[in-house]
Amino acid sequence: MARILVLGAGLAGLGAAILLAGDRHEVIVVERDPAGPPPAADTEAAWSGWQRRGVNQFRLPHFMLPRWWQQVREQLPEVGDALRAVGARQVNLIDMLPVDRRGPIRPGDERFDTVTARRPVLEAVLSAAAEAAGVTIRRGITVTGLTTDGRTRVPRVTGVLTADGTAMAADLVVDCGGRRSALASWLQAAGARAPVEERSDSGFVYYCRHFRSRTGEQPAALSNLLQNYDSLSAITLPGDNGTWSVVLTTASRDRALRGLREPARWHAAVARYPLIAHWADGEPISGVDVLAGLEDRQRRLVAEGEPVATGVVAVGDAWACTNPSVGRGASMAMIHAGLLRDLLRETDPADHDKLARRFDEASMQVVEPLYRATVWNDRHRLAEMAADAAGTAYRTDDPRWPMSKALFAASLVDPDLARGYTSIAAFIATPDEVFGGAGVAERVIALGMGAPQYPLPGATRGELLAALA
Ligand SMILES: Cc1cc2nc3c(=O)[nH]c(=O)nc-3n(C[C@H](O)[C@H](O)[C@H](O)COP(=O)(O)OP(=O)(O)OC[C@H]3O[C@@H](n4cnc5c(N)ncnc54)[C@H](O)[C@@H]3O)c2cc1C
Repeated sequence: MARILVLGAGLAGLGAAILLAGDRHEVIVVERDPAGPPPAADTEAAWSGWQRRGVNQFRLPHFMLPRWWQQVREQLPEVGDALRAVGARQVNLIDMLPVDRRGPIRPGDERFDTVTARRPVLEAVLSAAAEAAGVTIRRGITVTGLTTDGRTRVPRVTGVLTADGTAMAADLVVDCGGRRSALASWLQAAGARAPVEERSDSGFVYYCRHFRSRTGEQPAALSNLLQNYDSLSAITLPGDNGTWSVVLTTASRDRALRGLREPARWHAAVARYPLIAHWADGEPISGVDVLAGLEDRQRRLVAEGEPVATGVVAVGDAWACTNPSVGRGASMAMIHAGLLRDLLRETDPADHDKLARRFDEASMQVVEPLYRATVWNDRHRLAEMAADAAGTAYRTDDPRWPMSKALFAASLVDPDLARGYTSIAAFIATPDEVFGGAGVAERVIALGMGAPQYPLPGATRGELLAALA
């Protein structure tokens, strides 16, 4: 069994740590934020008292997709039980749709189940589960570099250095340092070649607000949780213990919509969308939080067929992160952590070159297509929003984009296609899998291709601007 150092106690770090500890590895998580979570059951203290400066999105809306829940249920059932025990919300993405869209509930619809909570609540539960699984979590320790065996071209990482000059040795270092991980610069300081990195501003800005129910009821979902409108996407997310959140996403270049950062204007805007207006009818438990400057970034530790270093891998956002409005980050991190756990079952970390290569191969085979599909969606949606702002129609040579829009429109009138569309949104099927179904493409074309660009009732750009004026 290996001694494994996990950098970062975020969703990826904690998830990976629990999986690895379950295989009897000695797992130590090192986290730079000093404050630990309150007891998991104290969800209010987690929400209002727990400060995590290391994670920009700590207090921003999160929703755990059915894909995440599938993995938790299968691999970390104790986490699922603990989440339910602290009041996490159980939802089914098909059941919550209006009955005229989904028809009767069918056998198999349980694949759309999930359990979700506000991010601090999720982390408090995961943190307690990690400790119960034997993971050591050391908070308030900032990693500042790597120790290596001194080899020059492909150094083998032997541990980490911390801000107070301490060296911590490990058989394997797992970087779960998130979007802003400094691994690339540490590797280069250790003499390694640069990782292969691709990055660009995702181009979106988020205006988000959390609410608590005044009545104990959660607002009804009148359509899918993510809804696209002229110049703006709206996301409504159920949370734990009678809480929920509403996110308005626009192109960050769209200066005319920046008034959304002001609560009165934000509410005036939400009121113009009849399917979500009632989601703003709760007690606000946050301001309108704004986040921009998020990158799509992927970082490979194998360059030109050779590892840039061994003894270290990156998992979760540290390996790939995208615009979060489709809510896939935590699911991708769990898939990625599962790949590492499986690989370590058959590859000794002492065989460090093989481990580095095999993990890269597995990541490229399984996680990279998920990253690519998310970036594909973002690029089209951003270009569509830019066309909205310019008052032009968005045209693309890529036939998959109009087909994906037609699938949504068709899902409004066809219960089978409602399930097809929702499977992609739930991250439990790919578009190829859905469109590969017998007769699906033909039905999508017949029912959805002639639909308006934005088939849901809601403000045009002009009406939105008027609401913000
Ligand atoms: C606005 C927003 C909304 C999102 N919504 C969703 C959603 O609805 N659903 C979903 O699945 N995903 C969502 N995501 C993505 C999700 O937050 C991440 O994918 C997920 O948290 C996994 O991240 P991580 O653990 O890799 O990194 P993080 O959560 O960023 O954690 C990284 C950790 O590493 C620590 N760290 C960094 N550097 C060091 C260092 N040098 N030394 C010690 N510790 C260090 C940090 O303090 C931090 O705790 C959202 C992201 C954003 C930005």
